[in-house]
Amino acid sequence: MATKANQEKEKRLETMRHSTSHVMAEAVLSMFPDAKFGIGPAIENGFYYDFDLPRPLSPDDLPVIESKMQAIIASDIPFIRKEVTREEAKQVFAAQPYKLELIDELSDEKVSLYRQGSFLDMCRGPHVKSSGEIKTFKLLNIAGAYWHGDEHRPMLQRIYGVAFDTDEALAEHLKRLEEAAKRDHRKLGRELDLFSIQDEFGPGLVLWHPKGAVIRRVIEDFWKEEHFKRGYDLVYTPHIARMDLWRTSGHLEFYKDYLYSPMDIEGQNYILKPMNCLGHIAIYKTKIRSYRDLPLRYAELGTVYRYERSGVLHGLSRVRGFTQDDAHIFCRPDQLEDEVVGVLDLALFMIDTFGFQNYQLLLSTRPDKYAGTVEIWEEATETLRRALERSGREYEIDPGEGVFYGPKIDIKFESALGKAWQGPTIQVDFNLPPRFDVNYIGEDGKEHSVVMVHRTVLGSMERFLATLLEHYGGAFPVWLAPVQARIIPVADRHLDYACQVEAELKNEGIRADVDARAERMNPKIRQAQLEKIPYMLVVGDKEVETKTISIRQRSGEQVAAQPLEQFKETVKSAIARRAIDAEGFGKPD
Ligand SMILES: [Zn+2]
Ligand SMILES: [Zn+2]
Repeated sequence: MATKANQEKEKRLETMRHSTSHVMAEAVLSMFPDAKFGIGPAIENGFYYDFDLPRPLSPDDLPVIESKMQAIIASDIPFIRKEVTREEAKQVFAAQPYKLELIDELSDEKVSLYRQGSFLDMCRGPHVKSSGEIKTFKLLNIAGAYWHGDEHRPMLQRIYGVAFDTDEALAEHLKRLEEAAKRDHRKLGRELDLFSIQDEFGPGLVLWHPKGAVIRRVIEDFWKEEHFKRGYDLVYTPHIARMDLWRTSGHLEFYKDYLYSPMDIEGQNYILKPMNCLGHIAIYKTKIRSYRDLPLRYAELGTVYRYERSGVLHGLSRVRGFTQDDAHIFCRPDQLEDEVVGVLDLALFMIDTFGFQNYQLLLSTRPDKYAGTVEIWEEATETLRRALERSGREYEIDPGEGVFYGPKIDIKFESALGKAWQGPTIQVDFNLPPRFDVNYIGEDGKEHSVVMVHRTVLGSMERFLATLLEHYGGAFPVWLAPVQARIIPVADRHLDYACQVEAELKNEGIRADVDARAERMNPKIRQAQLEKIPYMLVVGDKEVETKTISIRQRSGEQVAAQPLEQFKETVKSAIARRAIDAEGFGKPD
């Protein structure tokens, strides 16, 4: 809860964190008298500062900088504020090209400067009174950062740090970071051989390896099955379309920065689709639709391409090409509430099935710039609110955060580090139907504009895999695991039986393989453990003789030898139930 005391504490921490960045800059200046300074803001839990230095920093530099910072803090140096004119500021920072640029961007006539010790910075503040007020901090890492986030500008060196009130809070945070690093989907994706993103192939473009593709197929099959059950029709639409369509839709105007350059085909400009909406509208418009035909729900696992700067790309969660689990609902105004309830129900069912517990529902309302009239906004926002009430779940209002074309409901997941990830979204659209004349014939025999809803219930396949990987730390529940059972023959003479078991399991739709390497048993178990395979089936003399298997679970628990039939039934049931935690066998007594 954001109480007043909490807000004050956050403000105080922010001031301390930002002041720590000045202290770090002073320490760096003492090491590199010719250092050029970028910016050094406070961020969540800490701060950074961007430097232009004569040599690249290495992790070994961090403890040196830290100890210089400790000395500055120990001497309790005051932060002194001074106001000067822009001209004076330009003279003061004559040797600091980045600061000069910042001064030129300022609109104020007066510029405030802060000095502590030998370091002088241009800054709005506020700051702590003196460096002794900085309680505890740690420098984390060094990263490259383009000046102004622009890849055409120089690459600066950014040092990240965290700062807290107490040593305990710092220790707790570092522990969480360590846990998050273990769960980082980029690291797990590499270790589990799920996907790769290769610079030579193209940044932000995801290659799904066989094991990642298995997980994706399981998710997609489940997704399609649920959509059929809930009255959706599956469609497919092309990856490119004439550019004129995107002019009519308003994308060229509102969305220009995300679009790739057009390609010329027989004198006509085409672009890669940034969204699937227009294909679905085109299908809708192939017939005259009557009020009795509605609602129509078109679903597509549609791959879209959006330009993102290379600096903001991040593993699977920020990419340049991704597959949305998209759908568009075309309905009458009087059907909107039930449709939104239906989507919410589906989204929450998905979230529960995949085992997420920490998420937040948000209702985003009208922003400053919007399409349509205030009246239709109010009405649709009310409809979304009623749908949320009917879902019985708690939600919060995100004022002014709707997209320009309509209000929306967002579901955000919380990651291991407490960071919010965009999950399902349900958006009402007042913009496209009139632009494309997406109409239906009403009971009155006249044409009316449909209500259009854009929605995804997982987000995108890429981001969803990232979220799943971090949520489960790579140990997927049985129904999602790329390999569900690994058969481990104790010696070569057990290999025939192992292959027989594999064939029988595969025959039942269980994803099994055999570790046939000429290795001893323990390294094979270790390997399966590294791959986080739910079941290891060990077969030796006894198992061959009695036609059984001995089970070792990923958790390390052993299950006594049992007939293969029994194991098959247990696993099939866990898969059918989409069990999220149990591996099918209870804990031993
Ligand atoms: Zn400052
Ligand atoms: Zn759409």
